[in-house]
Amino acid sequence: MELKSIKGISNAFETKLNSLGIFSVENLIEYYPYRYNIINLINIKDAVPDEVCTVKAFVVDEPKVQYIKRNFNRMIFKVMSDNLIFNVTIFNRAFYKKNLTLNKMVVLVGKYNKLKNTFTASDIKFNLVENKIEPVYHLVEGLTNNNLSKFINEALKNNLYYDYIPYIYTEKYHFINKLEAVNLIHNPRSISDIKASYLRLKYEELFDFMFKINYLKKLNNKAKGIKRDLNNNYIDLFSNNLPFKLTSDQIKVMTEIYQDLTNEARMNRLVLGDVGSGKTIVATYAIYLNFLSGYQSTLMAPTEILATQHYESIKKILNAFNIKTEILTGATKKKERDNILNNLKDGKIDLLIGTHALISDNVEFNKLGLVITDEQHRFGVSQRNNLSAKGITPDVLYLSATPIPRTYALTIYGDLDLSMIKTKPVGRKEIITKVYKDNDIKDVLYKILDELKLGHQIYVVSPLIENNGELDLKSVFDLEEKFNIAFNHQVKIGILHGKLKPTEKEKIMDDFKKGDLKILISTTVIEVGVDVPNTTMIVIFNAERFGLATLHQLRGRVGRGNIQSYCYLISNKDVERLKVLEESNDGFYISEKDFEMRGSGDLFGLKQSGEATFKIANLKTDGEILLQAKVDSLEYIEKELYLDNEYYESMVNEITFIQ
Ligand code: ADP
Ligand code: MG
Repeated sequence: MELKSIKGISNAFETKLNSLGIFSVENLIEYYPYRYNIINLINIKDAVPDEVCTVKAFVVDEPKVQYIKRNFNRMIFKVMSDNLIFNVTIFNRAFYKKNLTLNKMVVLVGKYNKLKNTFTASDIKFNLVENKIEPVYHLVEGLTNNNLSKFINEALKNNLYYDYIPYIYTEKYHFINKLEAVNLIHNPRSISDIKASYLRLKYEELFDFMFKINYLKKLNNKAKGIKRDLNNNYIDLFSNNLPFKLTSDQIKVMTEIYQDLTNEARMNRLVLGDVGSGKTIVATYAIYLNFLSGYQSTLMAPTEILATQHYESIKKILNAFNIKTEILTGATKKKERDNILNNLKDGKIDLLIGTHALISDNVEFNKLGLVITDEQHRFGVSQRNNLSAKGITPDVLYLSATPIPRTYALTIYGDLDLSMIKTKPVGRKEIITKVYKDNDIKDVLYKILDELKLGHQIYVVSPLIENNGELDLKSVFDLEEKFNIAFNHQVKIGILHGKLKPTEKEKIMDDFKKGDLKILISTTVIEVGVDVPNTTMIVIFNAERFGLATLHQLRGRVGRGNIQSYCYLISNKDVERLKVLEESNDGFYISEKDFEMRGSGDLFGLKQSGEATFKIANLKTDGEILLQAKVDSLEYIEKELYLDNEYYESMVNEITFIQ
């Protein structure tokens, strides 16, 4: 239903609602408050430190506004309340300035600091409402909390919602009904109203989600794959030529893969392991088995740099077994590309490595049996479709260096079988990690110099290519200049970023690998997988801009050989969080911490990729509801109860279709 059908929504308001991601009446109804004000007027003298309170006051002096950054301002004004005069500070509400005239009565919501005689307000109201619970929404300029509340309540009159919780579970848990829940969440009368509404809406969202995941898993388990005839797992033969001894976890995962490949069910497995835990060798083993049974394999990497690196290291191992390996990337010349494609079709190539562009329409395999995707969360339904349309159901292996907490793994990867590599290859040294302030940069430069003198190489990472002037960030170009000055142009520095052409990137990576370049300054394009064992130090500027999991992955670029390696994080902010990396080198532990500190929303950039985002559920706090939803949705599937439910039945049909 269109927004404009709601009373009071003008064109101007519609634009503002759009900017909040609200495009329909349904969106509006689901625009839930992010918190509530419990309005209980008190006397300012009774304000408790650090506790939110609400007081009535009068403006006694004109507000002053400071614009700190784009989208960020601070307003300060004086008020009097119960014969006490104090300052009020409020952020991002500059648009209230014109309403704050002398002697105006206001109701302030916030915290009062007695020592500083300052009230930090989170909200200001202009009419007196006593002892009420009020929803608070995220706003944009020109759209007040009152506006939104009104629009939402208009929208609620349409009774536009469908209850997705199957009746048996509504009964079982005595959930309030959807209509009531949605109304109460926007207009609660008590705390218990809010709790009951949340519980019900969260369960609904998680049940829906887990149903999808469980149904996919069921289909995957049923999907017929290739049943290979191998009478031995050949792990000994395979590892004979390796220059190291496999870790126990590597052997365990290889055994799991052997089982997948030799049974009839289609393999759909995710190998999770920290950076440097040795996943590549495990994938190479899968390729080897697949080759022995007469099938072609493909390995897809997210970037050309990674594809090239995989090609080089995997080829070395597979040459010993006469496995013909080729690489295809965006940079492959037309003639060579045609040649590769022909040989692939004729079955003369056993393994094709490349970027995801590989699965374009004109790539035809002769007998594809195994698809490996590296460092990618998932390969999309449409890509899977592409392969299936070619009449093949290859086994699929995913590799990920993003260790994720258990609850999270259960959801986004719930339809995959999980293998974990937790043991690190022996002899690996822990990477010494330190957090430095901007002002201590001299110490960092000295350390870099020490490492350079030892003949080692350095990575430097910045979140930006160029400085856009607005933010206090060190860009790749800024750093290049600074380092050149610091080292008097005596140290060869390369720069790498996403805007370079593939051939340019390759050249720089090559020069760095050969040791012609000593320092590589880059954006996070080196984040995943790059392997130059002589690099013993990584320095990350504006480290506060990255999640812990990302920083941990970046850190994994060093410490690849047996030389002691270092990771220096430069930041003036958020030091507490960054210190987690000083304490630990364990990706699984770090991801738990990241999860705790940042919540699931922006974890690993999943928000952008649109996977596993929830409107109301929060995986960090709703683990129990999630687990219950998992159990219930499984039961719902097993007992085929969904056949009586229009919504879930059509969902099932859709899933089956895209498979
Ligand atoms: P990742 O899990 O990050 O993909 P890689 O597979 O690239 O890790 O392995 C990192 C490095 O460790 C490679 O140089 C690889 O040859 C080496 N390696 C892998 N397994 C072992 C092992 N069991 N013992 C010693 N070194 C190993
Ligand atoms: Mg199988």
